[in-house]
This record gives sequence, structure tokens and C-alpha cells, in this order.
Amino acid sequence: MSLSLRDKSLFQQQAFIAGDWVDADSKRTAPVFDPATGHELGQMPWMGAGETRRAIESAEEALASWKAKTAKERAVVLRRWHDLMLEHQDDLARIMTAEQGKPLEEARGEIKSSAGYIEWFAEEAKRIYGETIPAGRRDQQLLTIRQAIGVVAAITPWNFPAQMIARKCAPALAAGCTVVVKPAPQTPYSALALAVLAQRAGLPDGVFNVVTGKAGEIGDEMTSHHAVRKLSFTGSTVVGKVLMEKCALTVKQVSMELGGNAPFIVFDDANLDLAVKHLLASKFRNAGQTCVCANRIMIQKGVYDAFAKKLAKAVKEIKVGAGQDEGVELGPLIDDRAIDKVDGLVRDALSKGAEALVGGTPLPLGDQFYAPTVLTGVTENMQVFHKEIFGPIAPLYCFEHEDEAIELANATRYGLAAYFFSRDVGRVWRVSEALDYGMIGANSGTLSSEATPFGGIKESGIGREGGQYGIQEYLEIKYINMGLE
Ligand code: ADP
Repeated sequence: MSLSLRDKSLFQQQAFIAGDWVDADSKRTAPVFDPATGHELGQMPWMGAGETRRAIESAEEALASWKAKTAKERAVVLRRWHDLMLEHQDDLARIMTAEQGKPLEEARGEIKSSAGYIEWFAEEAKRIYGETIPAGRRDQQLLTIRQAIGVVAAITPWNFPAQMIARKCAPALAAGCTVVVKPAPQTPYSALALAVLAQRAGLPDGVFNVVTGKAGEIGDEMTSHHAVRKLSFTGSTVVGKVLMEKCALTVKQVSMELGGNAPFIVFDDANLDLAVKHLLASKFRNAGQTCVCANRIMIQKGVYDAFAKKLAKAVKEIKVGAGQDEGVELGPLIDDRAIDKVDGLVRDALSKGAEALVGGTPLPLGDQFYAPTVLTGVTENMQVFHKEIFGPIAPLYCFEHEDEAIELANATRYGLAAYFFSRDVGRVWRVSEALDYGMIGANSGTLSSEATPFGGIKESGIGREGGQYGIQEYLEIKYINMGLE
């Protein structure tokens, strides 16, 4: 293992159940690779149903006492977890970059924002309010209180190995729930490092568990066990649908953060330099592997050529390389499959008349690098216009009228994030209202923060993460009708 860490105990190759570091019952393990080099970083336990059941049962056992703590007591522990994450920010970022590939600077940013979610929800725990309802009779008081849902199962993806866990677990734990997490097999070490720090922060045994291994088996146990009252999932729409269906059998609550197909619209009256700057942030962060990445870039006819030229110039300057290397802005894609998919989309577009102003091919820096690419002349018959790209490809589509842009933008089953650029205040409001998306960037290409509700509509998901809404996902409303003498 080539990782150099100040605190070597953060790198764990065992799973974390009931406060213990454990192997799979079968002793089976599976390798984890560095996407920049293809080198093996280490092994993770290849667990299945039995270990998952034990993790759920330990979460069930820990629930009563965690839930019974005051909000402040829970907040103190969460706050310590936040502090420890910041204290070990550099090591956590190194672990993340090694297994995920993103530039170190982005990984550091992700650790900071993950800690930010934990801090936010530690504070929010103290603001879980109930209400009194005016009664229709004098001999009754009507009240509501909000209580922890119970055991939560969280299934997370590889693109934000720490933040996706923080977004789910911080509100769940703050609300008084206990949690079992299944991280993506590509990025288990970030999750396990968070578990090391959770334990040091004083989260009691069983309150936070991490199981690694067979997605199907672990998922089946999570979705069928009666003690799990909520499943929170971030990942593909196709897997999300399967999990929702399985949760129906035990009537679990679900939060789903699924795929997107974000439009990024630049109107004639936009500040083009601002639009380019935000497009770079939205499109190329994490090598284009985020669910809110600009996917369909629609430019109004009057500024199409000027915008394409400015964008091409900026994209040519992006420094590609291994995330660990100083100054690198764009790392490798997560695996071979991702490279094949992205290259397939580019080949399809080029064969149908698109032109690559920049890039358009894999890069010979390793097996998993793809050149940041700008495609012009993109039309609706190209796959790149309909599929979630999940790679560093910016396809530019030309439109003439505002109505046309809105209609095209909404012509998808997805509804996560949409962006547009305009300096006309009437248009800013009109278009914000008209776009069928859960989140809108109006003259902005970045959306996510611990204080705001992140989430989609249509087939992009159910529920919101972050802000005052994030904690509600982990609370049940209890209505009390209190008779008076
Ligand atoms: P991606 O294609 O980006 O990896 P997925 O939706 O396949 O997205 O993966 C997101 C998370 O869901 C990962 O942790 C993955 O292991 C998990 N997963 C995939 N298939 C299943 C399944 N059938 N049951 C439970 N979890 C699953």
C-alpha cells in the first residue's frame, strides 16, 4: 500500500459492526484499486446477508439509548466527529483521492463540506420542534411531536465517497436514528475512515455501522429486514427503482437521490465569461462524474460561436493527471466501463456530424483518463443529448427561442438540477419557474451546501438532503390527543 498517511489507523481493511472491526464470515475479501494507476490499494471484506443482519440488529439494539439522549448530547458527539474530520482532513483526502481519483484539492473540499453537514445537523438536532393544534373541544389538547424513524440503511455511490455518507448519516444520527451504511465497492476506505473517527468521537457501539461486499445481498437484507424503517439511497435511477420496489414489502420510507440530465442554458443576454466559469465548475468537477453535472449545454444562436470559442480556450488549459499530483484539475474516470461509455457517446456524436473542438479521445496517461472535450454541432438525434454522460464531455447544442430551450430542457424523465444564464431579471424569474427541476442555478453552476435542500423531482428522486428539510427525512410525526379532566 503506497498511501502515506500521518495517522495510519485511518486506513482500515475491515468492516465496522457493533463497534468492532470485523472480516467477512467467509473470510473472503475483494480488491480496491487506484483508478489513476490501476494498482491495488488493499482489500475489503466481501460480506453478505449474515453480516448485514448483524449490523442491523446491533443498530436496533443501540437505538433506544441513542434516541433517548437529549439533542444536545447527540450534538456534542457529532460536533466531535466534525472536529476530528477537519483535524484529519489531509489524510482523509489522500484516502479519497487514492480510491476515487479526484484531485486532492477537490477531495480536501469534500472532506470539509462533509464535516460541514455534520456540524449543521448537530446544530439542527436542537431545533426538532413539535406543535400544538387548537382543539375543537375544551377537554382536549392536540399536539404533535417528532421522533426518530428508527434504524436507517444508507447505500452510497463512489463519486462523493464521504459527502454522500455525511449527508445521510448526519441528519439521521442527529434525529436519534442509528445507521448501517453500505459504501460503493470502489470507495470503501473513505467510509471506513469515517467510522474510525466516529468511534473516536464517542458514537456508541452499534449507532454507526459500515458493511462492505455484495451489493445485491446486502441490499436485499437492508430492504427486507423489518427493523430497518428507512432506506436512503444515492445512485443510479435503475437501482433506485429496484430498491424502492423491495422496500414496499415492509413499507419502509425511502429517500432517493438518483440520476440527472441537467440542462445548462446560456441566453443571448448572458454574461458569457461568467457562464464559462460556472460551466467549467459544473461540468468538469470530479471529471464530470456528478449527478448534477451540466449534461446538455444549450446555447442561444446569437452567442453560440463566441461561447464555444471561450469555452474551448478554457478547456484546453485544464490540467489532467493523477489526483495526487500537484496542480492537477481533472483526474481519471472511475473504471474501464466509464471510459467505454464516455468514448461511445463521443464516437456516436462525431459519427452523426458533431465536431470535437477540444479532446474527443482517451488520454495515454493511464487506462482511465479521458480528455476534457468540447463538442459543437450537437443535435437531438445524438445519444449524448439524452444519456447521463458522467464524464468530462461538454456537448454544445444551439437553440433560437426561450420557449424552445425550456421545452427541450424539460423533455426528459429526469428532474434534478438545471442551470441557466441571463441578465434579464424577468427572464430569470420566468425560466426559474418554468424548468421542471428540484434545483435551479440561475447565473450559478454550483448548488450543493449543507444549508440548502438538495434533491430531484420526476425520476431523479424523492426527498431532500441538507437544510431544515434534511432532518425531516429521518423523523416521524406523532400526533397526541390528550384528554383533560
Ligand atoms: P453506479 O452505476 O454509479 O455505480 P449504482 O446505482 O450501481 O451506481 O451504485 C450505487 C450504489 O448502489 C453502490 O453502493 C452500489 O454498490 C449499490 N448497488 C448497486 N446495485 C445494488 C443492488 N441491487 N442492491 C443494493 N445496492 C446496490
